[in-house]
Amino acid sequence: MPLIPSLINGELTTSSSLPNIPVTNPANNEVIAELTCTSEAELALAVASAKTAFQSWKEVPASERARVMMRYQQLLKEHHDELATILSSETGKTLADAKGDVWRGIEVVEQAINIPSMMMGETAENVARGIDTYSFIQPLGVCLGITPFNFPAMIPLWMFPMAIACGNTFILKPSEQDPLTPMRLAELFIQAGAPQGVLNVVHGGKDQVNMLLQDPDIRAVSFVGSVPVGQHIYKTATDNMKRAQCFAGAKNHSVIMPDSNKIQVLNNLVGASVGAAGQRCMAISVAVFVGDTKKWIGELTELLKAVKPGLWDDESAGFGPLISPQAKQKVLSLIQHGKDEGATCLLDGSDFVLDKAGYENGNWVGPTVFADVSEDMVIYQEEIFGPVLCCMTVDTLEQAIALVNRNPYGNGTSIFTASGAAARKYQHEIEVGQVGINVPIPVPLPFFSFTGWKNSFYGDLHAYGKQAVRFYTETKTITARWFEDDIPSGPNMTISLK
Ligand code: NAD
Repeated sequence: MPLIPSLINGELTTSSSLPNIPVTNPANNEVIAELTCTSEAELALAVASAKTAFQSWKEVPASERARVMMRYQQLLKEHHDELATILSSETGKTLADAKGDVWRGIEVVEQAINIPSMMMGETAENVARGIDTYSFIQPLGVCLGITPFNFPAMIPLWMFPMAIACGNTFILKPSEQDPLTPMRLAELFIQAGAPQGVLNVVHGGKDQVNMLLQDPDIRAVSFVGSVPVGQHIYKTATDNMKRAQCFAGAKNHSVIMPDSNKIQVLNNLVGASVGAAGQRCMAISVAVFVGDTKKWIGELTELLKAVKPGLWDDESAGFGPLISPQAKQKVLSLIQHGKDEGATCLLDGSDFVLDKAGYENGNWVGPTVFADVSEDMVIYQEEIFGPVLCCMTVDTLEQAIALVNRNPYGNGTSIFTASGAAARKYQHEIEVGQVGINVPIPVPLPFFSFTGWKNSFYGDLHAYGKQAVRFYTETKTITARWFEDDIPSGPNMTISLK
């Protein structure tokens, strides 16, 4: 059985005294690897190593740091399919979806290559007579990243490449549910030329995170995961005087206007709702049908009925299993809640079992559609994180906007319409950080930032793009005055001492 090590001070280590955590294939729940849990002493070593490495890494010119990122990007591209296959083996994602997960991460590394120009400060001449002011952007020190299971390539790559390109050193604590992909990412980063201690990877769950949050040498914390954990990490990190950015759960609405293109809308909703088994923080989990479009719900249900979960290498599979039996249990209990609360279950995936020998015990749930969903229902209020779409109806765009704005989450939303005026009103009035217009899942590319709002994000500065550079750096502002009398003059150009 493969044993997954930590990466501490440039060495792969399996020396932990703690019990291992089994890593399973979600398609049949068989154990595929054992994860070593990083002990308290090893965590301290990782922080010390990152602290030492920072002293030299911060002096490496930004253009040289960018070259490490260039080599890394190249290696990631060369290993793209290998990474996607590893990712599928531990998440159950279809290969196409896994490739997308890796690719979205590579795009952030591409952005990190631009670091020299992104770290340029500002200048102003003659702020007072003979005085100039200019600013530099300098790295913080040791940064920590805590990542969720659902994008084991993309989300670690949201964090450490930008932080390290800025001149910081990094400790990554990936999800214990799928650590094989992040470890492979780390190995390739070392291969790209990252010096010892610049990236450390530690493993475990809440105990390891809580120990790291107390460590005074960690300056900034990036987290992606669920709401309760995000709130806990934001509070604990800031109580310990650290900078924090915590990306949390979501409930994303898609608003369907009567003038929209029905075929496009329905096809888009299928992929956006149940793709990746609904385990995406930008998945569309609520479809809001405006006016007569409620007649489309039946057709949408028929399309979703045709989507079949399957194994990662089955090209006809619409999506894979849920990550764990616990995740499946949670989704099944929410589906039952929906039925008990009086929502109409038009399509029920609770009993889906993959008809393939050896995979009957996987964490399968089929596409599920509820109509007649109201705001007071638990299936509307809670993030389900499964292949479940809630359909709601309103009469007007104003009512749709009010509904979305009452929801406590604000990660993503989309509107389907042929009207520029309706789209303009929606983008302006909606209290959600990422808005798609005829685009179902509006995840920004890395030259922008990933900008969730409300309960989907705790902090100020978001992931990747210019905001990440600000998050991972300090600005130093220099006000300089030079005296004309001091300009060396005469044949020897000597400076006069006063
Ligand atoms: P999770 O909160 O259970 O775990 C996330 C990380 O926190 C893991 O590394 C885990 O080991 C650690 N952790 C878990 N419990 C902890 C505790 N009590 N104290 C400290 N650390 C703890 O999340 P998950 O189930 O892995 O991921 C799914 C969640 O992530 C969903 O809610 C999803 O919406 C969210 N997510 C959000 C975004 C976003 O950008 N907003 C992106 C992806 C996923």
